[in-house]
Amino acid sequence: MIKILVSACFLGEKVRYDGTSQQLLNQSLLSWIHNKQVVSFCPEIAGGLPVPRQPAEIQAKSQRILTCDGVDVSAQFNKGAQRALTLCQQHHIRFALLKESSPSCGSTTIYDGTFTQEKMSGEGVTTKLLRQHGVRVFSEKNITALIAELASFSEKPSPH
Ligand code: SF4
Repeated sequence: MIKILVSACFLGEKVRYDGTSQQLLNQSLLSWIHNKQVVSFCPEIAGGLPVPRQPAEIQAKSQRILTCDGVDVSAQFNKGAQRALTLCQQHHIRFALLKESSPSCGSTTIYDGTFTQEKMSGEGVTTKLLRQHGVRVFSEKNITALIAELASFSEKPSPH
């Protein structure tokens, strides 16, 4: 059975910096949950950050991750990313559905480090590490591409 790593906030878990979730209502996601294919994960919680917490953004020049009041939380973000990778390796997970624009989970855009709601092209810390190790990362914006990949992956004959 193909397992999928999914951002915990998509699953209704109140783990976002402001103590909310970002529940994703999608029929395919519901069926993956029903089939026990989903592995829920929040890298920022796994990295040791609390709920609620100060919002943090990746600084474009230094690549450090700072909170809006200037605290460096790079170590916690990197630890969360490493834990995500370990989990994927333990469960042989090759696909992930992660929240777009998050400094951990973003896959095509992230906030630009100025705390002005501006975004730029880029990927979150966890997404980057997972991709470096061959995990295919998708977001809520391109979930249809993930559905298509899973379908074609399932159709491939298994090696003898
Ligand atoms: S780190 Fe990822 S899973 Fe955790 S709250 Fe942010 S977007 Fe959701």
